Amino acid sequence: MRFLAVLLLTSVLFIGCAPPEEEVDLTAEEKIEQINEWLPDLKMELAMDDKYACCLKEGCNECLLAHGSCPCYNNLQEGKPVCGECYAGWQQGMGIDNDFTKEDVILDTDHQH
Ligand SMILES: [Zn+2]
Repeated sequence: MRFLAVLLLTSVLFIGCAPPEEEVDLTAEEKIEQINEWLPDLKMELAMDDKYACCLKEGCNECLLAHGSCPCYNNLQEGKPVCGECYAGWQQGMGIDNDFTKEDVILDTDHQH
C-alpha cells in the first residue's frame, strides 16, 4: 500500500511539472488562440510607440502583420486610402471615428508590399 501511495504521489508531481517542450507543442487551434491573445497587447504596445494608429475599433491585423505598424487612421484623416481590412471593417460599422462614414473611406486598390 505504501508503495502505491508513493507511486501515486510521484506521478502527480511529475504531471505537475511537465517538461516545457510539451507545452510548446500546441495544436493549430491553440496557436490561433495564442495569437489572438497576443494581438491586442501587441497593438497596444505599438500604439504607445506611435507606430500603430488604426481606424477600426479592434484594430486591423493586415497592416500589423505586413508592416508591424498601421497608418490607416492617419490615412483616413488625410483622405488617403486605407488597407483592405480597414475598408471592410468600416463597411461593417466597425470604424472608430464618428466624424467619418463608410462612404468617406477609400480602399487601397494598388497597395503593394
Ligand atoms: Zn489597416
